[in-house]
Amino acid sequence: MKPRLKLVIAGGGMAGLAVAVLLHRSRHAASLDVTLIDAGPRPVFLPGDDVGLRVSAISPGTEALLARAGAWDHVSSARCSSYEHMRVWDAGEPADGPSTLRFDADEFATPHLGTIVENALVQHALLECLNGSRIELRFATRIESVEAVDGGHRLTLDSGDEIVAALLVAADGGRSPVREALGIGVERLAYEQTAFVTHVRPEKDHGSTAWQRFLPTGPIGLLPLSDGRVSVVWSTTPEVAARAMDYDDDALGDALGSASDFVLGQLEPAGPRGSFRLAAQHAKDYVRTGLALVGDAAHTVHPLAGQGANLGFADAAVLVATLDAALDAGEFPADRPVLRRYERQRRGANALMMHALTGLNRLFASDSAVLGAARRTGMQWFNRAGPVRRRIVEVAFGAER
Ligand SMILES: Cc1cc2nc3c(=O)[nH]c(=O)nc-3n(C[C@H](O)[C@H](O)[C@H](O)COP(=O)(O)OP(=O)(O)OC[C@H]3O[C@@H](n4cnc5c(N)ncnc54)[C@H](O)[C@@H]3O)c2cc1C
Repeated sequence: MKPRLKLVIAGGGMAGLAVAVLLHRSRHAASLDVTLIDAGPRPVFLPGDDVGLRVSAISPGTEALLARAGAWDHVSSARCSSYEHMRVWDAGEPADGPSTLRFDADEFATPHLGTIVENALVQHALLECLNGSRIELRFATRIESVEAVDGGHRLTLDSGDEIVAALLVAADGGRSPVREALGIGVERLAYEQTAFVTHVRPEKDHGSTAWQRFLPTGPIGLLPLSDGRVSVVWSTTPEVAARAMDYDDDALGDALGSASDFVLGQLEPAGPRGSFRLAAQHAKDYVRTGLALVGDAAHTVHPLAGQGANLGFADAAVLVATLDAALDAGEFPADRPVLRRYERQRRGANALMMHALTGLNRLFASDSAVLGAARRTGMQWFNRAGPVRRRIVEVAFGAER
C-alpha cells in the first residue's frame, strides 16, 4: 500500500478548518494523513450564550461553499441573520440622499445579499463536519518553530513533538508565524485605523439592512443581528478607538450614534467590546515546494466590505480542488508547479479586492472638496450603472467560485 501523504494545517481559524473539512470530503481523503494544529482552545458554541463579539458578513458564494462542505445546516439551524438591503453613504450627505449606494436583494434576484454569522459558530459547524473523520485535531498546541527540510517542513510543537509535513498549509492568521519563520515577506498598506467592535441595541428596527457610513476618519458599519441588535464595526483613528474602549455606556452610545448619524436612532451598548489594528497586507509568495498559505496568512483586507473571511474560504476551496486534480493526474501535490496553480487562481482576485478596498477607504477619507464632489457624482452614477453594479455585486457575492 502507498504511504499516505502527511499534510499539516497550521491554524484552526475559519480558513484552516475549511481546508480540513474539504480535504475530509475529498475523493482522495484516504490517501492523506492530515493533522490540524492550533495554539488556542477548541472553539465552542453554546446556543444559550450571547452572540459572540466576532461576527462576519459572509457572501452567498461562501454560504454555498459551507453548504457543500456540510456545515451550513449547523450554522443556519443555530443562529445567523440574513440581510436583504445594503446602504452605503458619505458623511457629508443624509442616509436617504441621492448619492447613497443602494443594494436590494430583489434587484439581483437573490433571497438575500449576505448573512451575518458568528465566527465561533462557523468554526464549531466545521468541526461538527469532522466528527468521525481520520483528521487529527490538536488544539491548545503551539507550533514553536518551522524549517524547510528534505521532503517538506519540520514543525516543532510546544509539547516537544516534531512532525515532518510533506505539505504544510499555513492558515495561521495575519501575523502567520509560519510565513515569518520561512522568511516570506509581505506587501503592506498600513491604514492608521483601528476597528472598534461591539453590539448595540438600536432605537429603530435595523430592517435587515447592512448600513455603512463613510467618515473622513474611516467607515462605521452596522450589521443586523437576529435578535434585533446590530454589530458595530467602527474603523477609526487608534486614539478614538482607544477612547471608545474606555467610555461608559452613555458616552459610547452617543459616540456611535453620532458616527452613524443616528440612522437607527439612539444606540444602546449591549455587548462586549474589542479593537483590532487594521492593515492590508499581501504575502509575496503564497506557495513554495511543500507549502501553501491560505486566508489571512496570505492576505488581509480592510473590513469595510466584509470580505476577508470570504476570500479565505475561496482560497481553501481552490487549494483543495487543485490538490484533488493533481492527485487525479498522478502528480505529487506538494510540488511547487502544482501549488502554483492554486496561487495563480487566487492571487489576482485577492490583490484586486485588497487594492479596491484600500482605494475606497482613501477616497472616502479625503476631505478635499473636489474629491468630495467627484465621490457624490460617482455614487449617483453608480446607482444608475446597471451592468457595472451587477458585475461588482457578483464579485462581492462570490458568484464565480
Ligand atoms: C473588525 C473585523 C471585522 C471583520 N469583518 C469581516 C466580515 O464581515 N466578513 C468577512 O468575510 N471577513 C471579516 N473580517 C476578516 C475575518 O475576520 C478574517 O479574514 C478571518 O477571521 C481570518 O481567518 P483565518 O482562519 O485566515 O485566520 P485566523 O482567524 O486569524 O486564525 C488563525 C489561527 O491560527 C492559530 N495560530 C496562530 N499562530 C499559531 C501557532 N504558532 N501555532 C498554532 N496555531 C497558531 C490561531 O490560534 C488562530 O486560531 C473582519 C476582520 C476584522 C478585524
